Amino acid sequence: MKITVDEPKCVAAGQCVLIAPDVFDQREEDGIVVLLAEDPGADQHQAVRESALACPASAIHVAEQ
Ligand code: SF4
Repeated sequence: MKITVDEPKCVAAGQCVLIAPDVFDQREEDGIVVLLAEDPGADQHQAVRESALACPASAIHVAEQ
């Protein structure tokens, strides 16, 4: 799995951090997403897919590999 985030699209909603806190974080100053793991372990894959679906800005892109 390869994750990319589109920071300019992120609206700092924090859905991704709630669903997959081991993979996503938010910047202190403005809440914009921070990607902690581009290629997380298999135990995180379902949560990452859910985060991508839940993101209101469609800012999370997941490539299954
Ligand atoms: S869910 Fe989307 S809009 Fe919200 S912080 Fe994560 S990437 Fe940004």
